[in-house]
Amino acid sequence: MNDQSCDVLVIGAGIVGISTAHYLKKMSPGLDVTLVDSGPPMGLTSAQSGENYRNWWPHPIMTAFTNRSIELMEEIANETGNVINLTRRGYSLVTRSDNTDDLMEELARGYADAVEGSIRFHDRTSKELYFLSESADWRLAPSGVDVITDVDLIRNKFPSYDHTVCTLVHIRRAGSLSGQQLGQYMLERFRESGGKRIIGEVSEITASNGFRVRVGPHSELGAERVVNAAGPFVNEIAQMLGTQLPIKNTLQQKLAFEDKWGVIPRNMPFSIDLDSQLIDWSDEELELLGSAPELKWLTEKMPGAIHCRPDGGDQGRWIKMGWAFNDTPTDAIREPMLTPTFPEIVLRGASRLNPGLKKYQGRLFRSARHYGGYYTLTKENWPLVGEMEIENTFVVGALSGFGTMSACAAGELCASWVLGGEKPHYASALSFDRYNNQELMAEMNALSSKGIL
Ligand SMILES: Cc1cc2nc3c(=O)[nH]c(=O)nc-3n(C[C@H](O)[C@H](O)[C@H](O)COP(=O)(O)OP(=O)(O)OC[C@H]3O[C@@H](n4cnc5c(N)ncnc54)[C@H](O)[C@@H]3O)c2cc1C
Repeated sequence: MNDQSCDVLVIGAGIVGISTAHYLKKMSPGLDVTLVDSGPPMGLTSAQSGENYRNWWPHPIMTAFTNRSIELMEEIANETGNVINLTRRGYSLVTRSDNTDDLMEELARGYADAVEGSIRFHDRTSKELYFLSESADWRLAPSGVDVITDVDLIRNKFPSYDHTVCTLVHIRRAGSLSGQQLGQYMLERFRESGGKRIIGEVSEITASNGFRVRVGPHSELGAERVVNAAGPFVNEIAQMLGTQLPIKNTLQQKLAFEDKWGVIPRNMPFSIDLDSQLIDWSDEELELLGSAPELKWLTEKMPGAIHCRPDGGDQGRWIKMGWAFNDTPTDAIREPMLTPTFPEIVLRGASRLNPGLKKYQGRLFRSARHYGGYYTLTKENWPLVGEMEIENTFVVGALSGFGTMSACAAGELCASWVLGGEKPHYASALSFDRYNNQELMAEMNALSSKGIL
């Protein structure tokens, strides 16, 4: 049996484990860090990401956490000539309602630390100019938020949208990136700084003079500290250590296809329809769906937050869409079964905001890509980063639908827990400590949105 040892073993080479390993070496170059995964790096959930990012959250803790991550991604983009393909066209949130009090309250709460001056209003009387950049260059985009209630302005700038939209909120520090490139970049830096990688499934962990970790059928590894970054399998690793994490997994899916008829403008931001809807089935389809008990739910009111964006740059032709309506917890497996009806469901739903998409209904091309993976999440949809119950073990997980955008900040934060260094102000709230903070828990439970997209 092979036997090696290290100071810190990071289990899981998804974007979050890679980032943690990278920041551990960056912050403590002499530390002996090993990263283990049973498969190729970035091969599981991280390969399914929609690769979007935003600093829009219903609570300022999450805003600060993702702002830090975006700052780190911008540094990497700057240093590397933008090898991570960071763009910043923003998130456009739309509704057909002119009563947006709840939305405005949520914006004010989420951006509490920087609210003054960061939200600009554009109505018929406002003289302030609204700017929709032709360029996706993240350095040219403004910060803050634009709220547009002038319907002519909306129609003029967003011609593909359904004409009943009357309020549009444009989150400016938001856009897309290549998660694969970001993972690759950090893995490369980790390797250059002497970090080690091994391939094999972790199947047993025993506490004995540090930890003895069984990897694959023939190896055992000694580690002083263990970081659990196993994505949807964080609880399996926690159980090997004799503890449990308050998380669940839900399967979420995406659809991507070539927009051969060019119905989505290439400069359209990531667009989210906030309104709930009844999917626009034909009478015949309604009858068929209504008579099948397992499909009847498709004829009922569906939640808002269906989203769509152009993919592959200004010269590309692909578009992506998703709808995270599934909240049924499930045990994670490596190759989850996707729902065959999902492509048509998401296409119908997305056609409500962009009616041009109706052209594709019932005629999706064979090259269309339907894919998915798990959102691993806590009840409050905040991540868990910090010490686990067992001494010298740490978790960096439950990154739900925001693990690509927050990987840098999560890795940096977990590294500071492992190293016992200074931590940012959001550290305690994102760790297990929050469950002992009744005031914070009450505040979170009172939020009408958990920021799931
Ligand atoms: C459909 C979809 C769309 C998404 N869109 C976005 C988005 O637009 N923006 C965004 O920021 N985020 C998005 N996310 C979320 C993001 O993809 C995840 O939060 C992130 O990839 C999680 O990374 P991870 O490293 O924690 O997990 P993973 O990528 O799953 O990595 C965990 C690793 O641990 C390894 N592992 C597990 N158990 C063991 C074991 N016993 N032994 C050895 N190795 C083990 C696995 O092999 C795996 O490689 C999306 C997720 C999904 C599913």
